[in-house]
Amino acid sequence: MLYIGAHLSSAGGFAKMGKTALAIGANTFQCFVRNPRGSRAKAMDPVDLERLRVLMAENGFGPIVAHAPYIMNPCSKDDGIRRLAEKMMREDLALMEHLPGNYYNFHPGSHVGQGLETGSRLIADMLNRVITPEQQTVVLLETMAGKGSEIGGRFEELRQIIDQVERSEKVGICMDTCHMSDGGYDILGNLDAVLEAFDRVVGLDRLHAVHINDSMNPPGSRKDRHARIGEGTLGTETILHFLTHPALRHLPFVLETPTDDAGHGEEIALLRQLAEKA
Ligand code: FE
Ligand code: FE
Ligand code: ZN
Repeated sequence: MLYIGAHLSSAGGFAKMGKTALAIGANTFQCFVRNPRGSRAKAMDPVDLERLRVLMAENGFGPIVAHAPYIMNPCSKDDGIRRLAEKMMREDLALMEHLPGNYYNFHPGSHVGQGLETGSRLIADMLNRVITPEQQTVVLLETMAGKGSEIGGRFEELRQIIDQVERSEKVGICMDTCHMSDGGYDILGNLDAVLEAFDRVVGLDRLHAVHINDSMNPPGSRKDRHARIGEGTLGTETILHFLTHPALRHLPFVLETPTDDAGHGEEIALLRQLAEKA
């Protein structure tokens, strides 16, 4: 069973996202668990979460991915911004305990001139403070395009963070196809070689989810502009290689392409059809 879905709006709550996922042919999805720019967690309704949990079980959903807000920067130079990142992640992880067994993905952050050593230490320090031994959510570091002082554009950088995390069994990776290509990994020409490098540096056992996006920019551009599947520089074939690769095909795949729910539904239908034939 291929787990494929899209980033959905969380405006109507969790059960509604489950229904939207079903309506567009998805059996996983991603969402923000708070306002993407805001700092306030939305009111948590246990009944709503319970409805989603039942819907997911009845419909054979794979794990879902909660995405941390973009403003979160745990390796900022500013102590207040770092404290806010920690507060948001702690609250979000507490919420996710009502939906055990899923993922919480975040952008490692931008070190803003402090360097990789300091940046990776600040990120790991935060993880060491917020991760509890009991938690049932695995926290995912996303592979980044490496624009500006962004950490996570190289597999080695992700490894450096994980190496400093005490409960590293609660930490994994979410790949993003647009970011990897923009970051200079040749997923278009040789996915096997990229996965071998990832396995050597980080370990494929740490890979838990994949964002499937085409890219508006050429490989190595360090830009991070997503395109619809087949409308960018990666092409449908490259995305299909991820969906059908023996080392990857069991993972949840999430579209973050610039379109609406209906558009994501079309992409899901096409990818399912092509993956079945492959
Ligand atoms: Fe992301
Ligand atoms: Fe992404
Ligand atoms: Zn992106």
